[in-house]
Amino acid sequence: MAGKTYIVEHLDDELGPWSELEYVTIAKESHEAGAKFCLSSVPSSLVLPEALKAVPGFTVDGRSVETLYAEDKSRVCLLDPSATKELSPEDGETFDVFLFGGILGDDPPRDRTSELRKKGFEGRRLGPKQMTTDTAVRVTRLVAQEKIPLDDIQYVDYPELRINKNESTEMPFRYVKGKNGQSIMPEGMIELIKKDSEKGFGDLF
Ligand code: SAM
Repeated sequence: MAGKTYIVEHLDDELGPWSELEYVTIAKESHEAGAKFCLSSVPSSLVLPEALKAVPGFTVDGRSVETLYAEDKSRVCLLDPSATKELSPEDGETFDVFLFGGILGDDPPRDRTSELRKKGFEGRRLGPKQMTTDTAVRVTRLVAQEKIPLDDIQYVDYPELRINKNESTEMPFRYVKGKNGQSIMPEGMIELIKKDSEKGFGDLF
């Protein structure tokens, strides 16, 4: 099946620096992979970061995905940590639209993906561990577009980031392992984590 679309339905009230870095990364990687990326459910009051608007191919829609695909629900696969079926390369033939919750990860997870689940889209899981949204899109692309089975992808779970010489912090997520053996994170994310960790993490994920 040609041409995939990745939709992130923005579910937070704001679009802070963590989301910005994640969305910019999703937009760039989607464009490079010949796929479309749409950020949906964006209120007109929300000012989008220039860095995001500048990515070629990036689109934004004020409507929710249930409106966008009201007539075409069966084309859409919701990536859902509570789904009973894992995503497989064959799903790339069944679906051409992959839907994700635009939610920052939290620990323990609060299951805000349920807001999308109740709209009735077919769901698939990406394994048992919580991923950041950009990681979830990356893994979906590897499976549905590049046909790599979920279990053949190399991951880094809960990486420890050194903040300074006395402190480190554990990220409570699963990431894809890069060529250098390190977890793949959006450009600028490590610096942002270090900066924010000085304020205390609290609700930051
Ligand atoms: N704690 C979150 C929640 O409230 O549901 C998980 C949010 S996660 C950071 C953002 C999005 O990535 C989810 O809405 C889902 O679409 C996708 N995602 C992350 N991990 C996943 C997994 N293991 N399986 C399927 N989808 C996943």
